[in-house]
Amino acid sequence: MRAFDFSRAESVGNAAQHGNAETAFVAGGTTLLDLVKLDVMRPAAVVDINALPLKAVERLADGRLKIGALVTNTDLAHHPEVKRDYPLLSQALLAGASTQLRNMATTAGNLMQRTRCPYFRDVGSACNKRQPGSGCDARDGINRMHALLGGSADCIAVHPSDMCVALAAIGATLTLEGPSGEREVAFADFHRLPGDTPHLEHDLAADELITALTLDAPLAPAGSHYLKLRDRASYEFALASAAAQLKLDGERIIEARLALGGVATKPWRASEAEAALVGQPAVLASFERAAEIALRDAQPRAHNAFKVDLAKQAIVRALRDASRAAQRGTDQDDTDQDDTGQGRTDTQESQA
Ligand SMILES: Cc1cc2nc3c(=O)[nH]c(=O)nc-3n(C[C@H](O)[C@H](O)[C@H](O)COP(=O)(O)OP(=O)(O)OC[C@H]3O[C@@H](n4cnc5c(N)ncnc54)[C@H](O)[C@@H]3O)c2cc1C
Repeated sequence: MRAFDFSRAESVGNAAQHGNAETAFVAGGTTLLDLVKLDVMRPAAVVDINALPLKAVERLADGRLKIGALVTNTDLAHHPEVKRDYPLLSQALLAGASTQLRNMATTAGNLMQRTRCPYFRDVGSACNKRQPGSGCDARDGINRMHALLGGSADCIAVHPSDMCVALAAIGATLTLEGPSGEREVAFADFHRLPGDTPHLEHDLAADELITALTLDAPLAPAGSHYLKLRDRASYEFALASAAAQLKLDGERIIEARLALGGVATKPWRASEAEAALVGQPAVLASFERAAEIALRDAQPRAHNAFKVDLAKQAIVRALRDASRAAQRGTDQDDTDQDDTGQGRTDTQESQA
């Protein structure tokens, strides 16, 4: 591990002053410190932002929920207003990582976490994201975990976050602060597609800090479900995941939100599939059609073609469970999530 300067920011302004291309902010450290040890990230300076007053969750007058950048994944998942109004987000958070990691991981750190592509994490491999222009060993390598959607000739690395999949379905706004003041960015525009610049992952300048995330007002009354399919039932990243919210009028779908994880290079809103659901009855055939549409543009590589069917199954089941919850008049499907995200979320059972 390389040596770096270390300091603690005392205010947001003070943190932003430190920000530059050679500096990294550290919050929970669960992504950053791993990557520094692997020599993938090489900051000359690390600024600890944990003393900043960014740990509040606040209901705004317009019904939105503002979440401080340093609220931990555990606190957010168990926050009473999140559990009541955004159970989809709570489920997605609890499906991620482990209890210990969630206790450390923060909201902004989760938004900013880097891909788990093994070629990105191995400095001996070619990776355009880690080293622009060096190539992409994943394209013709072991690409079982890689993206079906949103990839390019330069990068097919998956965006790994569960939380961000729920955010894509819910809708949110990020508050960023830098030396020239505060600005807001829609969550949908924050993460970038790789294109020919996969090293540019998001819309955040080096001297800016994420200070808050504000969730859109809840979609109500609606039913929702987050389903994560993975190689083992906990402490594992998604092979495919789906976040679904449905608003029904009787049997008919009047609003649909659908986002995918584990299969795309950024948190993936399936807008065309959503449009196809509206006006349709909440039945299996509608869900299967939406799944076909969502994966229509999938571009599998040698080892990840199985994820096309897996993602479709995730979509159908998430929509089915969201619709059951909507019909019962509870927002959340009450089937099987526990604090570890275990239950019926393993690949094996989903294929049964
Ligand atoms: C073994 C393991 C398993 C995991 N499994 C999952 C999983 O299943 N699902 C999932 O979604 N995630 C998973 N994660 C990832 C985990 O959720 C992230 O590591 C965590 O959310 C990052 O938050 P942090 O606060 O620790 O970020 P840090 O490591 O402190 O920072 C991460 C990045 O964000 C930047 N950053 C942090 N705060 C700010 C800010 N306020 N403004 C600007 N930049 C900032 C840092 O500079 C750094 O680049 C796993 C991680 C590990 C180690």
